[in-house]
Amino acid sequence: MGADAQRFRRVMGLFATGVTVITAQYGGETRGMTANAFCSVSLEPLLLLVCIHREARMLEHIRGAGAFAVNVLSADQEAVSRHFSGAGDGAAPEFRFVPWEGGPLLVGCLGAAGCTVERVVDAGDHAIVVGRVRALHEGEPGRAPLVFWGGRYRRLQESRPVPVEAAGTFDRASARIYYEA
Ligand SMILES: Cc1cc2nc3c(=O)[nH]c(=O)nc-3n(C[C@H](O)[C@H](O)[C@H](O)COP(=O)(O)OP(=O)(O)OC[C@H]3O[C@@H](n4cnc5c(N)ncnc54)[C@H](O)[C@@H]3O)c2cc1C
Repeated sequence: MGADAQRFRRVMGLFATGVTVITAQYGGETRGMTANAFCSVSLEPLLLLVCIHREARMLEHIRGAGAFAVNVLSADQEAVSRHFSGAGDGAAPEFRFVPWEGGPLLVGCLGAAGCTVERVVDAGDHAIVVGRVRALHEGEPGRAPLVFWGGRYRRLQESRPVPVEAAGTFDRASARIYYEA
């Protein structure tokens, strides 16, 4: 039961995530990269992080720009995700960027955060890029996210609604709290 890279990938792949496209504009060039190593960090100040492979072109692009944007993909943007991971079938799918804070905004994304680079921390073969959030975008409400789990793209399936009465079955009078003497 050891720990090796393959097993690590398998186990980490059990953690379901959304999918993002990170964008940055530098030296007159726009770049995009698919990433799911993304999470929020702090509310005061507003910080988030993305982990980027040290050899990804995007890392140097972000360092140069000093800014980036994180675009959260919707369920119908799987082809866009494949393209920006370098795994597309060659023909770029339809997508459109518009200039925005931090980096270009991907039209049709669920939401986005535009950031300036707060710090970059080396971490093994990746770098942790901490972004100070400068702008937020909320797309059309009610659309489903693209999900990644077990190394594959997935779609969310709504669970069956739980009857409202179930919430009222807890009997407060029967609850007891016990303390150890
Ligand atoms: C679900 C998923 C999650 C991932 N999560 C991460 C992660 O968190 N961190 C990480 O480091 N890697 C992650 N990857 C891998 C990463 O997306 C790829 O390794 C990526 O190719 C590396 O980025 P790069 O900057 O070197 O991109 P490149 O290989 O240079 O570019 C990626 C693709 O985007 C295209 N592209 C870039 N800019 C534009 C543009 N302006 N217009 C049109 N096409 C453009 C390129 O042509 C290429 O096809 C993930 C991959 C997947 C599938």
